Amino acid sequence: MITDQKKVYRPKEWETTTCPFCGSSDYLVYEKYGSELQYTYVLCKDCKLVYQSPRPKYDQHFINAAYASYYQFTETLDLNSNPDVPESSVNMFRKEVEYLLQFDKRRTAVLDIGSGMGTFLAAAKPHYTEAVGLDVSAQMAAFVQRQLGVKVFLEQFENFQSDKKFSLIHMSHVIEHIPNPKAWLQHARKTLEPGGVLVINVPNKFSFSFRLQHLFYKLKLKKQFSDSWNDPSRTPDHLYEPTVPSMLRFLKENNFEVLDYFSYSRKDPVSDSSFFSRLANRLFAKTAEAHRFFSQQFEERRVEKIYLGLVNGIISQKNGVIELPVGEHPSKKGMMAVLKKGKPSVTEYTVKEEFGKFSLVEFNIRTGRTHQIRVHAQQIGHPIVCDELYGDKTPVYLSAIKRNFKLSKMDDEEKPILARLGLHAARLRFTDEDGQTYSPEADLPKDMRALLQQLRKWKT
Ligand SMILES: [Zn+2]
Repeated sequence: MITDQKKVYRPKEWETTTCPFCGSSDYLVYEKYGSELQYTYVLCKDCKLVYQSPRPKYDQHFINAAYASYYQFTETLDLNSNPDVPESSVNMFRKEVEYLLQFDKRRTAVLDIGSGMGTFLAAAKPHYTEAVGLDVSAQMAAFVQRQLGVKVFLEQFENFQSDKKFSLIHMSHVIEHIPNPKAWLQHARKTLEPGGVLVINVPNKFSFSFRLQHLFYKLKLKKQFSDSWNDPSRTPDHLYEPTVPSMLRFLKENNFEVLDYFSYSRKDPVSDSSFFSRLANRLFAKTAEAHRFFSQQFEERRVEKIYLGLVNGIISQKNGVIELPVGEHPSKKGMMAVLKKGKPSVTEYTVKEEFGKFSLVEFNIRTGRTHQIRVHAQQIGHPIVCDELYGDKTPVYLSAIKRNFKLSKMDDEEKPILARLGLHAARLRFTDEDGQTYSPEADLPKDMRALLQQLRKWKT
């Protein structure tokens, strides 16, 4: 049965931990998340792993909550009616397996940890003498056994004992869920044949999407693009979020040689994600280009930044594009100006509301030059209110807006409603690797909201 009701998850106990990869206790707070920002990710200063600390104690209560949605998913499937293993997922894994086979020439036995519906095993089985799965769901294990004729053990990997050694061990999006990754790597070494291949798929915290998410967090854009960010039932089940440098070091320190690694989109495992490591003495590495990709997004202008600004006066043309090159002011330090030799700068604007003395304007910047909107607004003769560099730096007072304004007897002097630059970064809009568009918004700050409210009230 599917229910929409979500149980609020509250950790029973917390524990602090050193870096689960390198053991260091030297860290920086990286970001907070959860419906009340109750979870903390820190960045290991030594190996660059992003990990939760403090984190919910890894006990049965946590494990039950963390696996709840998976168990719920297994219950919604009527496994007796033999649903098809999704062909598209199997195809994706076929590509991955094909790629992996070049590293695993023995192809004796394959072990998939977290085998789920058996999609990876379905793709790998034809190439191997023997295939084995590990999972936590008895329904899934029975299903895979029946459907593929593959034995699935109901065990955590660290407890899995096998006389048979494997030439390939595959773990896709599992290692970030367990508290003792070091023990897992050591156990993998024992369970592999000499020269066997270990494949680890993990999320990449320094990927384009995660870096953007982090950027929103830094910009204090409240509405995150992921719904799960604010989901109160969310279990912080990723005890850490690996990054490329931390994974490389972690594998090396546990006596694995890295054969290959790259980042991928989940839709295409080969051409573009994942970590391939191995017990041999060879090194062959491609570089992950997550950061470069991130820069390109901006250069290709696929990220739109939308601002709301309150400008002086009424703009005659209600929307338009301001294209004037902006550069450093030739004599005034810290100021920018429209200059022939400046950088090309493009600002689109749309008047949203008019209030006689002021207008509320939406600015969509196509380039991101310093003070671009402020300089462009000044150039069209309507500087942003309270702009001390490019406009009239006087604050906005209620007496200037409200008819018959009377100062309260309590005050000898009127306090301004808005005493700072009337410009606000309202929204970002971008498209990720998979073509999905996100548009996180930030609420207007209190003072701007109050000013707009008064302007609307006393509008003539
Ligand atoms: Zn570390």
